[in-house]
Amino acid sequence: MSETVYFNGAYVPYEQAVVSVEDRGMLFADGIYEVVRAYGGRFFHIEGHLERLVTSAAEIRLPLPSLDELRAAMAGVFERSGLRDASVYVQVTRGHPGPRAHALPVRATPTCFAVARPVPAPDPMHVAHGAAAVTIPDRRWHMCHVKSVGLLLNSLAKQAALDAGAQEALFVRDGVLTEGSATNAFSVTNGTLRTHPDGPHILPGITRQVVLELAERLGISVRQQAVPLADLYAADEVFVSGTNSEVLPIVSVDGRAVGAGHPGPVTRRLAEAFRDATRA
Ligand code: PLP
Repeated sequence: MSETVYFNGAYVPYEQAVVSVEDRGMLFADGIYEVVRAYGGRFFHIEGHLERLVTSAAEIRLPLPSLDELRAAMAGVFERSGLRDASVYVQVTRGHPGPRAHALPVRATPTCFAVARPVPAPDPMHVAHGAAAVTIPDRRWHMCHVKSVGLLLNSLAKQAALDAGAQEALFVRDGVLTEGSATNAFSVTNGTLRTHPDGPHILPGITRQVVLELAERLGISVRQQAVPLADLYAADEVFVSGTNSEVLPIVSVDGRAVGAGHPGPVTRRLAEAFRDATRA
């Protein structure tokens, strides 16, 4: 069965969702996106994702279709997919207003598409026993809070992690941990959870926000404070969070064991609380 894609106002077979070679998303990475999870037939924190899409659009002066249209498109592809658990991708670019030109077009009709996909099951070994990470210099721009389709450095970082036999890359900028290639990053030292503060150097992850709220509810002490690389190496626990990764324990960084080399108690509590929240 061919996938159904929402494409500029219509539901079409995958093969018919085709963009111009001069779409600004392709020429300038002039576009933004969101990935929303559905569990058991229902979206998880879709409003947070839509809010972030609006913020991203405002930051790059991108006119968005209405939120009602986006919500309906995401629900539409999800329903048509027949899936109960899915990852729904939605992307908006500035379209193809004419021959390639740097300046923003006076009038642009956005190119918008959405598709629902099954979520690859996380490797049970990594969920139970933790994954490995490597650090990578963070050479990305200073607008990481925008969920831009310009992900080349994230993509190269992820590949560098895989090449090193690890599963995730952790970006380090000015000596501190910012975030993962497709995740936010947390460390735990003496029971205190730390994660980089919001700002231009991280994406304000929806999963990160859920984790912070769960930590507060569980009485875990939390600091939104940058973690220097030396503290990361010395941390008792490290984990990453993301829509598709959920809460993933990291048990080695750059080949050094984190704490005792297995998922620690704070990570396990938060991972369990997160799983419960997705079932609620
Ligand atoms: N940081 C980056 C760079 C990401 O690409 C992602 C997700 O794609 C995240 C963090 C996690 O964000 P969320 O929890 O909203 O998926």
